Parts: sequence; structure tokens; C-alpha cells
Amino acid sequence: MDSDLNTVLEATQGEQVRGEASARFSGVSINSRTLKAGELFFCIQGDRFDGHDFLNDAIAKQAAGVIVSDRARLPLDRMADGPFAVQVPDTLKALQDLAAFHRNQHKVRMVGVTGTNGKSTTKEMIAAITSTQFKTLKTQGNLNNHIGLPLTLLDLNAEHEVAVLEMGMSAAGEIRRLAEIARPEIGVITNISEAHMVHLETIHDVQAAKGELFEALPETGAAVVNADDPLVRELVGNLRARIITFGLDPTADVQARDIRSADVGGIEFTANVFDATVPVRLPFSGMHNVSNALAALAVGAALGMDANSMASGLQRTQGLDQRGQIFEHQGMTLLNDTYNANPRSMLEAIKTLRALPCSGRRFLVIGDMLELGAQEEAAHRKVGQWAEENEIDCLVSVGVLAKLAADAAVNAGMKRDHVHSAETHDEAAQYLTHHARKGDCLLFKGSRGSQMETVIERFTGSD
Ligand code: ATP
Repeated sequence: MDSDLNTVLEATQGEQVRGEASARFSGVSINSRTLKAGELFFCIQGDRFDGHDFLNDAIAKQAAGVIVSDRARLPLDRMADGPFAVQVPDTLKALQDLAAFHRNQHKVRMVGVTGTNGKSTTKEMIAAITSTQFKTLKTQGNLNNHIGLPLTLLDLNAEHEVAVLEMGMSAAGEIRRLAEIARPEIGVITNISEAHMVHLETIHDVQAAKGELFEALPETGAAVVNADDPLVRELVGNLRARIITFGLDPTADVQARDIRSADVGGIEFTANVFDATVPVRLPFSGMHNVSNALAALAVGAALGMDANSMASGLQRTQGLDQRGQIFEHQGMTLLNDTYNANPRSMLEAIKTLRALPCSGRRFLVIGDMLELGAQEEAAHRKVGQWAEENEIDCLVSVGVLAKLAADAAVNAGMKRDHVHSAETHDEAAQYLTHHARKGDCLLFKGSRGSQMETVIERFTGSD
């Protein structure tokens, strides 16, 4: 965002402490370490840091302006020829208000993506599709929350025609606020299942919280609905927006048929997008990515794109780190899905491992799934059962919760000497070094906090 103090005052209703109304800034920052000269610095108060503590740094780095909630902290003696300053009651709200104001100055077609699993992947797929025809802004990294989304919006410029924003949440009301700021025209809910159950008690609370995205859509907008997910389908009752469904369900507007593995790491299918039929080749493994791709095609259709351009865009989607990357190590096939885990994505991963072409044994190497609240023990036991039911040969666990999955796998019939519960990443890596061999396929997964990538690094010697 390239703008001036006057605009900040109008957008935030803040009080001008010092500076000329015409003073300009060339971008927005909340981090004094990465702030560039000429940017506007917001002093955000987080759990661990208070941005006010970094005012001196921001000023030394030639911030054009600073936004504070405590004007007494301003080092006015150092600011003589320096930045303008604005006092607001709440700096986070001011950041959001400025982002909303900035967004309202642009006629961009806004797409919001939420869901329990696949938000980032689907966002990448949508952006790969829309970029074939429109100048597209997309969420970078995981900037998908009450701070990240406003920062992304502040990058909007007059050239952007489409913006694809990921919307994360862990409590009720969060998506409503993000949607209020971004005003999406198209909303996607990829799926709904148990995750982040610390602030939300039941699956219906999760459903209602995700549903806030659909509720926010205007009459002229489109709700992109996973027809294979009953919890998403249930949300479409009283929507103002048009509904576009996707999935394997034969009634869906956007469907996949003839799904087949192209080669290791790729899937081909035929997509029906309303009346059009188009072949699609995805550079990803796993059936869940077919679902994500259908959601992305549905968004393209809502934007009026033709099916062939969409298919060529999809094919160029870049994979995201630690989300199902496949690679070879000493004749073994390794699947790195360590970015995150919850019960639904664990089941999808197990099915992906089962479907992987494999001449040896299939190893599931898992860490704990976190933030599941009261359901955590039962959920881990389920994973052990699923592993056995899906013909996984060996299970290696790291952590106390994942051990419940290992024990459940044995109870469900997996051979005891094919199951190992490790206490540390190193121990798991050593076990694999001694037991895995050429031809075997190994899938690694766990919640972000479980850091299962460490096992891969130790096992392959790449750290
Ligand atoms: P987070 O909320 O943790 O940032 P996300 O919703 O953005 O995650 P991605 O980063 O796209 O999701 O994918 C994370 C993992 O979720 C993938 O590695 C994969 O295991 C799983 N996953 C992706 N898409 C789906 C899907 N449609 N259904 C089930 N699991 C999925």
C-alpha cells in the first residue's frame, strides 16, 4: 500500500500525534527487523512481543510513520525530523481497518478459502488457475489469520484483478471478522472435520465457525461447496449467494471421473465443469488433492473461466513444502506430509500410502496429532485401526499420543514386530535405518508441533 497519513486517519479514526497530513508511506510492516525505509510501522501487541518495544528500531530504520496505542511510549526526542505518529485505541484493529479501507478502494474479485484441510493447497491451485487470465494476488506462506490476512490485503494494487485469500481460524467469530475485512465474492469451504478443538467443543461448533464464510457472501457471489462433505452441504440452507458444488458426488456441478495415477506423484482425471469436459493432470498425489483441484475448478467457473485454461493452470500448480512431497532415498519411496495432521488428513494420508505403487512394505511414520481436545486419545487409536484396515505393513510412532495409534494397530492385527513406538525423532530414524529397505514406501506425518520432518532429516542424513 502506497498512501498518506490522511488516509490512515480516515481509515482508522486515529488521532494524529505528529506529522503532516500529506506525509506518505510506501508499505506497511509489523516487524521492525524486516521493515524497509519509508514503511508504516504498526506496534502490534502479541502474546510474546509488544511492538512498542521496537519503536526505536523502526525509527532508526527510517519508518515513515508509526501507529501506537500508547503514545507515552513514543520517543519524541528521537523523532524530530522523523516519522509521523498516530494514536489508536487498538493497533491490531487499526491494521485491520486500514486493510478493509484499502480493499474497498479496489474492484478486485475476492476469493476466500477456508476449511479444515487443504486451504493452502487449494489456494495455490486457484491462484495457478486464475493467473492464466488475471493478475492475481494470493496469501503468502501461512499469513491466513487476523494479522496475516490484513497484511496480504495491504499488498493489493490497481493491477490486481483477482485475490485469493486463505482464512484460518481456531475460534467462533474469527472467519466472520476476516470476511468483514476482505469482503469475498466467492467463498470456498474445502471440508470440515475435527481440528483446533481447544476453543471449539463439538464438530458442529467447527461447522458453524467455517459457515461464517458462506454467510458473509453477497447475493451476487458464489459459495463453493464440497458435495462429498455432509457438514459443508448442510451449510447451504439459507444462503444469499449462488451455490456451486464440487466432488465425486454425481450431482455435483464440478466432478472428476476416470481418476488414475499418472506416475509416482501425479494424478490424471477427467473433469466435468458444468457442461464442459476437460482432461486434467495434477502434479500431486492423493485423492484429497483431486477434491482440492475440483474446488479450484469450481472457483474458476464462478469467475467465468473456460475449462481448458483452468486445466492448463492447474497443471502448473507448485507443490507446497511438507505437503505430500514424494522423493527417492536409497531405492525407497519417501512421502513427506509432515506439515500438519488431524484425523481426517491422517486418513487421507493412509489411503494415499495404500495407493502408492510399492514393491516393498508400506511404513506409516507418525507423530502426535495436537489440539484435539477431549477426543485426542480416541482419535489416535482410530489411526492405528485405519492403518491396519488399509493394509499398512509397519507403523512407527513418536510421542505419547502417537503411541496409542501404534498400540491400537497391534490390537487390530498388525504384527507386533512391525510396530515400533519411539520416544524421540532420533530413535525413530535409527529404527528406520535398521528396518526399512529398498522397495519400501514410507509416509511421514504429524502435527506441526510434532516436527516429524526431523525424522526424515535424521533418516536421510540431510540435516
Ligand atoms: P493448515 O490449516 O494446517 O495451515 P491447510 O488447511 O492450509 O493446513 P494444506 O497446507 O493445504 O492445508 O495441507 C496440509 C495437509 O492436509 C496436507 O499435507 C494433507 O495431508 C492434508 N490435506 C490437504 N488437502 C486435504 C483434503 N482435501 N482432505 C484431507 N486432507 C487434506
